[in-house]
Amino acid sequence: ADVAMHAAKSSHTALRVYLPADDQNTPDRLALITDLRDAIDRRDLLVVFQPKLDPHTGDVTGAEALSRWHHPTHGSIPPDQFIPLAEHSGLIRPLTLHVLESALRRCAAWRRDGHPLHVAVNLSANSLHDPTLPEVVARLLAQSGVPAEALTLEITESTIMANPAGAKAVLDQLHGLGVRLSIDDFGTGYSSLGRLRELPLHEVKIDRSFVQRVAVDHRDRAVVRSAVQLGHALDLEVVAEGVEDQETYAYLVREGCNLLQGFLISRPLPPDEFAGWLAGHRAP
Ligand code: C2E
Ligand code: CA
Ligand code: CA
Ligand code: CA
Repeated sequence: ADVAMHAAKSSHTALRVYLPADDQNTPDRLALITDLRDAIDRRDLLVVFQPKLDPHTGDVTGAEALSRWHHPTHGSIPPDQFIPLAEHSGLIRPLTLHVLESALRRCAAWRRDGHPLHVAVNLSANSLHDPTLPEVVARLLAQSGVPAEALTLEITESTIMANPAGAKAVLDQLHGLGVRLSIDDFGTGYSSLGRLRELPLHEVKIDRSFVQRVAVDHRDRAVVRSAVQLGHALDLEVVAEGVEDQETYAYLVREGCNLLQGFLISRPLPPDEFAGWLAGHRAP
């Protein structure tokens, strides 16, 4: 737990370097927070969708929703920057609601069009401490008509391991709704086996930092292999993210990964391009 806390703290340190006014609220930072609030209110944050492919059948089984912010003067600001900003300014709750709502609306449309797809939404550390989250998820599911089991919530391993007991309580409630739970960025958060076994998880997503170098680094191959074995030993689906080339794809298929995601299959797509892509795609 100490190591995980350290990891969480050091990522915040990195963030302070990027956004120096974390505790000072400079005019620039306050302006950006105001703009982010407006973007959320006006539904100006775009949600894009990256397909997840089952390499054994060649079918796309679903997609991960990822947020995009095109700022009127600064241009596009990556989520690695505005998500932490939202977390530190009380905006993560409305942001997460907006993403959940858009993702479920799209998922409902795909399903109406005859594609029985799942959708995955990322939850930040703060969302996991929001006691109203389970009821909000239940309400949005009911509104959209998407069955609970078609929604996956992705939570990073380091978020879970920063407060395993607190995380378990919320995950148990979410699990009670019937949604699927995925442990994101797996391999970076120092999970203990005992902890993992106690959590109501359905999926592990092996972090892209390990996936990307499997073709060239035998240590990364060893990490990926043990992550796949661990996932399967716990009856979890194993997803690999960040698949960029054929060699990596072939390796991950051989190792038994259940689902693959990455630029080789598709970049995250704007919602209006998704259906067209789906109709034309071929497994790599
Ligand atoms: P993540 O959840 O690990 O998402 C995967 C990231 O990897 C995405 O970056 C995706 O565009 C990128 N990616 C996918 N395939 C490849 C590939 O083959 N190669 C490479 N190099 N990258 C690939 P993105 O969209 O910039 O998001 C970064 C992070 O920001 C996400 O990491 C997630 O932690 C966070 N994030 C994005 N949208 C949301 C959101 O709506 N809510 C929350 N809480 N976090 C979000
Ligand atoms: Ca994710
Ligand atoms: Ca990830
Ligand atoms: Ca990540």
